[in-house]
Amino acid sequence: MEIDKPAFDFSLEEIDREEGRQIEELMARSQEPLPDPVEWLQAELSRNVLVTSVDKLLNWGRHYSLWPATTGLACCAMEMVATAASRFDIARFGMEIFRASPRQADLMIVAGTLTWKMARALRMLYDQMAEPKWVLAMGACAISGGTFAHSYSVVPGVNRIIPVDVYVPGCPPRPEALLYGVMKVHEKIERRSVSEDLIDLRRLIKGRATQGSQA
Ligand code: SF4
Repeated sequence: MEIDKPAFDFSLEEIDREEGRQIEELMARSQEPLPDPVEWLQAELSRNVLVTSVDKLLNWGRHYSLWPATTGLACCAMEMVATAASRFDIARFGMEIFRASPRQADLMIVAGTLTWKMARALRMLYDQMAEPKWVLAMGACAISGGTFAHSYSVVPGVNRIIPVDVYVPGCPPRPEALLYGVMKVHEKIERRSVSEDLIDLRRLIKGRATQGSQA
């Protein structure tokens, strides 16, 4: 019986070559760290009388229901797993559900060494996460490449690929340190204003419109 030829007839070599080209492109445009997310709105605009109570309510809800994406990349992930287990019990902070889908997560804990080969996938996962979202870089490798900083295959800092909110140093950091980092994310959430959500939304719509016009 004759089998129809698939529409895409790439050889494995061609797929590898294409992936290599995309990784080289990513490396070329990711040499500088991205600026850290900052509170750049003027205080009087972000904290006016009208939205203060709404902010409080929204931030209270977000604060106690952070859902982390499962992004364990290397040995640091073992400490992240320990943090979620019964001894350190991250569930005390409303975070027991580690999501396998980025679309259901709003916190990315990058735990471990990020290679350039994995960087494209990480960026894709970040882009698919729901807004508003936060990123925590866990461990020396995620922060700066750690021991492998000058290696040809390791990204010297996750902040070259995605914006990072909180850094937790260590090799690996202990679960207590990760919990402290999570507290810092909570503080950041508490300072957030609903007006920033509107600005993010406007930026998102503008980005989609630009992509649409380029297609
Ligand atoms: S920081 Fe240390 S423990 Fe964490 S991924 Fe790197 S080498 Fe492993």
